[in-house]
Amino acid sequence: MFLLLFSFLAGSGSLVLTVLFLVASQIALCVLWGFLHRQNLNGKAAAAKKPPAGGAFKHCPWCAAELKLGPVEGKKERLHCSCGYINWNNPIPVAVAVIPRSDGSIVLVQRGIAPAIGSWALPGGFVDAFESPEVAAKREAKEETGLDVTIVRLLKVVMTPGRNNMLMFYLAAPCDGVIVPGPESKDAKPYFVDQLPEMPFSTHREIIAECVQLGVLKNSAAS
Ligand SMILES: [Zn+2]
Repeated sequence: MFLLLFSFLAGSGSLVLTVLFLVASQIALCVLWGFLHRQNLNGKAAAAKKPPAGGAFKHCPWCAAELKLGPVEGKKERLHCSCGYINWNNPIPVAVAVIPRSDGSIVLVQRGIAPAIGSWALPGGFVDAFESPEVAAKREAKEETGLDVTIVRLLKVVMTPGRNNMLMFYLAAPCDGVIVPGPESKDAKPYFVDQLPEMPFSTHREIIAECVQLGVLKNSAAS
């Protein structure tokens, strides 16, 4: 088509029309190339956002080479590198505090950070490097509620459904101190178990129900 038009215009003897045609066709080609290149870049960006199978990393944190997915030490497939690095993808520990008041209510925080911003949950967070989970539960309780709690015992260890987080629930001794929401909380206050706000984390609801069974938490009428 291009050659036909070109030979026709060149044959017609009109130099102006031939030059105009050549310029217009060059512009059209540039626009088309730009469009296709952009589509390609968008595709690459979308692929880069998706984490590779077996873990959230694409490159080796030791040598920056691209990680490979395959069986490691006869175990399941793991991302690994020829330099010796293996991404074991172990669960991430999270310490959570169950803080009762002496009247049988429980201290909850309204989350100010993702996930589930604005919803109510038990105070808790990721365990710091080299920190014991029990110390983490005490620290998170202080940071999110302002309360200095004494940990009584470990209640339960469960995995967060659909996530690689290992939740460790610790029971604190009844604490009636002044509650002050921390920087990561919109609010913090005690609730009786028959007046709980909506709580999206099923594991938190389940541990509260178990604490009712244990007699640690009570209904408003029972206080
Ligand atoms: Zn490496």
